[in-house]
Amino acid sequence: MNPSNRKVFNFHGGLHLDDHKSVSTSRPIEDAPIPSLLVLPLEQHIGNAAKACVKVGDKVLKNQCIAKADGNVSTQIHASSSGTVVAIEPRSIPHPSDLNVISIVIETDGRDTTIEPKHTNVEHYKSLSRHDIQRRIQEAGIVGLGGAGFPSHIKLNAAEHPVETLILNAAECEPYISCDDMLMREHADKIVNGMRIMQHALNAKHCMIGIEDNKVEAFAALQKVISNSDDIELIRVPTRYPAGGERQLIYSLTGKQAPSKGRPLDIGIVCHNVGTAAAVDDAITRGIPLTSRIVTLTGSGIPQPRNMQVRIGTQIQFLLDHCHSPKEDIGNILIGGPMMGFKLNSTQAPVTKICNCILAIHQRDVIKPTTPMPCIRCGECTDVCPVNLLPQQLYWHAHAQEFDTIQDYNLFDCIECGCCDVVCPSRIPLVQYFRFAKTTIWQQERDKEKSDKARQRHELRLERLEREKREKRERHNRKKAALKKKPDQADDPKKAAILAAMKRVKEKKSATDTNPANTDNLTPEQQAKVDEADARRKDHKKDTTS
Ligand code: SF4
Ligand code: SF4
Repeated sequence: MNPSNRKVFNFHGGLHLDDHKSVSTSRPIEDAPIPSLLVLPLEQHIGNAAKACVKVGDKVLKNQCIAKADGNVSTQIHASSSGTVVAIEPRSIPHPSDLNVISIVIETDGRDTTIEPKHTNVEHYKSLSRHDIQRRIQEAGIVGLGGAGFPSHIKLNAAEHPVETLILNAAECEPYISCDDMLMREHADKIVNGMRIMQHALNAKHCMIGIEDNKVEAFAALQKVISNSDDIELIRVPTRYPAGGERQLIYSLTGKQAPSKGRPLDIGIVCHNVGTAAAVDDAITRGIPLTSRIVTLTGSGIPQPRNMQVRIGTQIQFLLDHCHSPKEDIGNILIGGPMMGFKLNSTQAPVTKICNCILAIHQRDVIKPTTPMPCIRCGECTDVCPVNLLPQQLYWHAHAQEFDTIQDYNLFDCIECGCCDVVCPSRIPLVQYFRFAKTTIWQQERDKEKSDKARQRHELRLERLEREKREKRERHNRKKAALKKKPDQADDPKKAAILAAMKRVKEKKSATDTNPANTDNLTPEQQAKVDEADARRKDHKKDTTS
C-alpha cells in the first residue's frame, strides 16, 4: 500500500527538539557480555509482582522460568543466563522513587546453557487460537517494551471489543533513544511477523505502522518486508515530540481520539511497540521468552554511544564499565530520555524489561537547577500541551494540594511528556508537581481502599456476632416452647412415650385413690352406730378443751 496516500492528522502542541540520535546509530547492535551477577526484580511490569518459583542454591538454565505470574495482570520472569540462585532479597531497581524490590540474584556460570524451549515447531501461528497465543505470550513474560510495562497478553484480550486496527508504534520520538530504530533496521522481519501474529490473535482487519519521517533506514527496512502485503500500511508521521505518545500516534494515523479515562480498544484500536512485536515473534515462533532487550547507551558520559542487546538483570554499572565510561566523569544518569526519563540513584540497579535507554551525562553538561519564579500566566505551557490540558491550572491546584479539584482538570490524562516544563519561562518544574499530585492521589485511594476493607471487615464481624446471638436466642425459645407442649404434642417420640406412660401411671393412681372407703354403703343400723360414735368423739373433744 502506498504510504504517501494516507492523510496524517496533526495533534495539538508538541515541540521540535534536537534528536541526538545519530551518535548511537552509527554502529550495529552489539551483544553485551554475560555479567557475573544478574539481578532480576519480581516487579518489572504493571500489575501483581511475579512469585519466585526457585530458592537459594538452585541451579538455573537460561530461559528457565524463575518466577510465575500472580494472576492475570502479571507475567513470568526468566533467568537470562545459566548459574546459581545466590539470594532472593530486596534490591534497588531503576525507578523514580528509588524503590527496593524483591529480586532473584543469580551468579552466572559463564556457559549460558539454555533450557529446551517449551513450544517449538509451531507450523504456523494461524494454527493457534487467540487464547493459546495470549497464554504463550504471558508465559514468555512479554510486557510493553516502549516503557509502559503493561503485560502484553492483556492487550490481546479483545473478546469484548472487535478490533478494527492494530497499530505498531515505530515513532520513538524522545531524543537520544534509538533502540527501536536499530531494531527496525536490523530485524524488520521479526517485527512484521510479530505484528501478523497479534493481528491473527486480535482478528484485526488491518495494520498500520507509524514511523517518524527522520528514520529513513528503518523505514526502508520495513518497507522491504511488507512490500507484498496490502493490509499493512507504513505511514510516516512528522518528527515532532511526542509523536510516539500512544494517543498522539493514534490521532495522527486515524484522526480518532481515544476517550479520556478510556482505552484505544474503546475505539477499536490496539497499539503495540515494535520491540513488543519482535518479542512476540520470538515467543510464538521460536519459544524464546523475554530475557534480553536492546538498550541505548548514550549521552556525553559514554565515550562511544551505542545500542546493545542486554540480558535483563545486568547491572547498569557493568554496562558503563563495558563502555569505558569513567565513573568520575559522570554527573548524572537518566533512565529513558531527557524528556520523560528519571534520575538513576544507584548504578547497581539492573536493566529491567522496560529500560530502553541509559543516558549518562558528563559533569560539564549537567544543567544546574534554577530557582523557579512565579507563574506569569503566559500560557505557553497550554500552547505546547499535546493533550490539550491547562498545565498552569494543574500547577496551581497541585501546589495548593487541591487534589479533588485537580482531577477536574484531567490530571490523569497528562502523559508527563515535559513539553510544558521546557517552555515555561518561569522554570517551574511542572511535571514534578503533576507526578507528586498523581502519586498522592493514588496513595490516598490505596489508603481509602484499605480503610474501606477494614470497615467492611468490622461490619461483617458485628453482623456475625449479632447473628450468633439471634440464633442462640431462637434455640433457647424453641427449647422452652417444646417443654411447654402437651405430651402428645411433644416433638421427640421417645419423650412422648415417656410422658404418655407417666400420664397412665397418674390416671391409675387417681383411680386407686377413688376406691370405696369402709364407711360407704352402710346399713341404717351401722350408720346409727357410726353417728353415735362421732357424737361421743365430739363430746370428749369439748371436755378436754374446756
Ligand atoms: S508557562 Fe509557566 S509561567 Fe507560563 S503560564 Fe505556564 S506555568 Fe505559568
Ligand atoms: S507534561 Fe502533561 S501537562 Fe505538560 S505538556 Fe505534557 S501532557 Fe501536557
